[in-house]
Amino acid sequence: MGAAQNDEDEIRNYGREQHERAEQAGREPVQARKEDVRRQEVAEREQRARQAECAACGEVADKSDMTVLDCNHAYDGDCTAQALQHALAGGKTVEEVQ
Ligand SMILES: [Zn+2]
Repeated sequence: MGAAQNDEDEIRNYGREQHERAEQAGREPVQARKEDVRRQEVAEREQRARQAECAACGEVADKSDMTVLDCNHAYDGDCTAQALQHALAGGKTVEEVQ
């Protein structure tokens, strides 16, 4: 019985050692840096998904600040205003000015 008990203890201790080693490794600076880089990459990808390139001037902006048409072309505020002013000045529709 004594021997079996020792084996169990040994297995338990080995498991704990492995666990502690893994925990320490998780706190190592390299691991933390990798986690930071990964988090930053995800944030950048999410930001890119929110943005679009203006079909007129090529400037990248947040889609929420742009006019996105049915064709999925996006126009930033300046270009939308310019197109509207052109249209009003020439008596043309925005589509004709583009
Ligand atoms: Zn533009």
